[in-house]
Amino acid sequence: MAKGIWVYAEQKNGQLKKVSLEILGAGRRLADQLGEELCAVLIGKEVAGLAGTLAEYGADKIYVAENDALENYTNDGYSQVLAGLAEEYQPMAILLGYTVLGRDLAARVAQRLGTGLCTDCTGVDLEDGQIIFTRPIYAGKAFVRAACPEARPICATFRPNVLTAAQPQPGRAAEVVMVDARPKDIRQIIKEVVCQVSSRPELTEADIIVSGGRGMKSAENFKILEELADVLGAAVGASRAAVDAGYAPHSMQVGQTGKTVSPVLYIACGISGAIQHLAGMGSSKVIVAINKDPEANIFKVADYGIVGDLFEVVPLLTREFKKL
Ligand code: FAD
Repeated sequence: MAKGIWVYAEQKNGQLKKVSLEILGAGRRLADQLGEELCAVLIGKEVAGLAGTLAEYGADKIYVAENDALENYTNDGYSQVLAGLAEEYQPMAILLGYTVLGRDLAARVAQRLGTGLCTDCTGVDLEDGQIIFTRPIYAGKAFVRAACPEARPICATFRPNVLTAAQPQPGRAAEVVMVDARPKDIRQIIKEVVCQVSSRPELTEADIIVSGGRGMKSAENFKILEELADVLGAAVGASRAAVDAGYAPHSMQVGQTGKTVSPVLYIACGISGAIQHLAGMGSSKVIVAINKDPEANIFKVADYGIVGDLFEVVPLLTREFKKL
């Protein structure tokens, strides 16, 4: 008999990903509706110290799988541990972030368990006793509500910045279960190459994103977006046209073939609003568009539109925000 809702608590270098706390919020509501326990799973080296935060954000029980061999993420190591725990304890659902790591891990865990996986979900609720996942289809033009009644545990990944984390309750207690994690035959990372180190927030986790398109006209011109981003504490994104033109690296691309983002505020500068771009940022809470073409498609999805030359508008915004 399947029991409990599980959240995979993603961490990197001892820092929990914000999306894991958001999923704990949704998991808490689901567990309460079902009358089930909400469990979090921590995997890594010396990660037990994060259990307190997970308890404050709603976990009733935290499984901690620590091992030197788990210091760095590997698909085979982490999936062995998570799938092994799921086989032993039989949860109803395993919820993960739709992050680079979460996507990789969820697919392998679902395959190991021979179960179903709902990806890139934006919501989860209970209907007639069934767990129902909401996920966008057709590049965000429609939403499907999916249930997998036979699949146990059902696995699902959730888009960052869409769900709401619960208010933390300082001092809230939870049971911590240290598990014996000894993954076998795992590949080891022998060298990690860090391509870019930025002091700005990670694109998929940022609350504010300033994004540039072909209208930026050159890589150097992205400086004005960086200046605005730094005043706002924002990340910088780009359209595929800007990336293809060499104005920005692919790691900054937002859209169907880039990253999916859901910030509180998305400022699109010199971006026309092609469907493939909207697929990656359409779920942003507030969209501001700056474009000199009043007919640009981006204005159809924008909450606020500025028709004008971005080379005048963006520095003006930076100057004004600096005064606040
Ligand atoms: P454009 O469409 O050329 O728009 C530039 C805009 O800048 C125009 O609206 C113009 O009015 C405005 N502008 C110019 N100068 C100024 C100025 N001085 N001030 C203000 N405004 C100005 N695209 C993505 O973004 N992400 C993806 O992941 C992605 N994946 C794709 C996958 C596939 C399979 C395909 C076929 C396409 C994909 N695309 C993707 C490409 C997409 O179709 C568009 O070509 C692209 O998004 C256009 O980028 P853009 O808006 O920057 O450029």
